[in-house]
Amino acid sequence: MSPNKPVRSATPAGNGASRAKDTDVIVIGAGLAGLMAAVHATNAGARVRLIAQGWGQQLVTPGWISVCDRAEDDVIAEVRGHAALHPEHPYGRAGDDAMVAGLDSFRAAAAAVGLPYDQRKKDGHNMRLITMLGAVQRAMIAPRGIAAGDLTEVSGPLLIVGFAGWRDFYAELTAANLRRQGIEARAIEVQLPDPDRWWDRWPGDLAREFDAAPFRESIAQQVTPHVQGMERVGFPAVLGMNEYPHTLDDLKQKIGRPVFEVPTLPASVAGVRLSDRLRCWLLRQGVRVQIGHPVTHGVVEGRRCIGVEVASLGHPTLFRADHFILATGGLYNGGIQTDERGRVWEPLFNLPVAAPEVESRAEWYHDDLLIKRGHPVHRQTGLRVNTQLQPLDAAGDPALENVYATGQLLAGFNPLTDGCAEGIALATAYKAVRTALELDA
Ligand SMILES: Cc1cc2nc3c(=O)[nH]c(=O)nc-3n(C[C@H](O)[C@H](O)[C@H](O)COP(=O)(O)OP(=O)(O)OC[C@H]3O[C@@H](n4cnc5c(N)ncnc54)[C@H](O)[C@@H]3O)c2cc1C
Repeated sequence: MSPNKPVRSATPAGNGASRAKDTDVIVIGAGLAGLMAAVHATNAGARVRLIAQGWGQQLVTPGWISVCDRAEDDVIAEVRGHAALHPEHPYGRAGDDAMVAGLDSFRAAAAAVGLPYDQRKKDGHNMRLITMLGAVQRAMIAPRGIAAGDLTEVSGPLLIVGFAGWRDFYAELTAANLRRQGIEARAIEVQLPDPDRWWDRWPGDLAREFDAAPFRESIAQQVTPHVQGMERVGFPAVLGMNEYPHTLDDLKQKIGRPVFEVPTLPASVAGVRLSDRLRCWLLRQGVRVQIGHPVTHGVVEGRRCIGVEVASLGHPTLFRADHFILATGGLYNGGIQTDERGRVWEPLFNLPVAAPEVESRAEWYHDDLLIKRGHPVHRQTGLRVNTQLQPLDAAGDPALENVYATGQLLAGFNPLTDGCAEGIALATAYKAVRTALELDA
């Protein structure tokens, strides 16, 4: 990783960059949407403060970026078509260009902090990636190690490697389920040094071990005798923390086969790496990063937010800014609250929330837990916004002039079943900053 490289936006800051220089932006939330909003605003020259109660969902997701998982062909074309037909969908609200620029600038930002994310180069289709259970999941972009397991590029048998005595990954389970789908796969388990101490260790602990060359050597020595006839070798996605992606190349060279990663149980090493490296980059640019600090409410005068109050130790603190990017996630991360009486509310500004119109909370869910189209509460709950991503009041006007909503907080899609939540986080983070800072689109 080269710590001093700039994390560039895909598009130049544009004519509004000089205006951005005298502007204070507060980003609330440290998920994909919040982190990338902070990157965009920083690149545009604004003074940025990122405040979050905790990290976002990237810490527990597989690590890939779902843009439109259901797309059979060109993913971007599918999204454009969907957005045109459904203008109320977050992709429709953000616009095609924001979607493409949001994705490009995410990849550029990640690459600049030493984290390459790959996609299929030849046709812009989704990859077919392996989950820990041996299922096959589509996604457009993934960390290099996970993308290296794209089944559309695989024609021979796979060797799946597990670690004896570690409870977060079972190679035989992965391989057996792959075989059930007609994919040739075999499993082995290798020994970790001092095996008794690994049962409860976290994926990140193993990833830090993989940073060390002697550890990689000991694993490679055990795997190499089994690679005869195997096209690629898959490991749990723990192949390095600070030394990633060098660890991938080193293992590939030692083992003599392409190496790929299969996501593990949380915490997601890919998410931890991304969060920490972006945090460090933001700090180096002078951004104030406050993780572990809940915003309790926004302070509003007329139709403008003048500041947010943060629950700091001892006493609440007011932070003022010109613009506020709300990236607080949806039902599962604090951005939208509910209670046992079926009330649904946005806690910081009391913004109107779209929610299922039902008689009782029981109707939020279908009887069928795994229903394909998802439960009403997931599909219909969120903030309605205009094309500037300003949350709307009951009359359909912007509720506040200088507050913009992004990511999973938005209405118009189902983040659990639609397979596009990460693409939406990136597209709307990009669009919100462009709008707030009046940058060219
Ligand atoms: C296990 C799992 C697997 C997933 N897999 C996929 C997938 O394969 N494809 C897909 O498209 N999507 C998937 N998702 C969903 C997707 O990852 C999320 O929708 C997306 O990451 C949300 O990003 P976000 O930035 O909008 O919100 P979040 O990541 O939820 O971040 C919200 C942030 O706001 C902060 N916050 C909330 N309230 C406050 C407050 N009052 N004050 C300060 N900070 C606050 C939180 O601490 C957090 O930092 C998955 C999610 C999970 C949990």
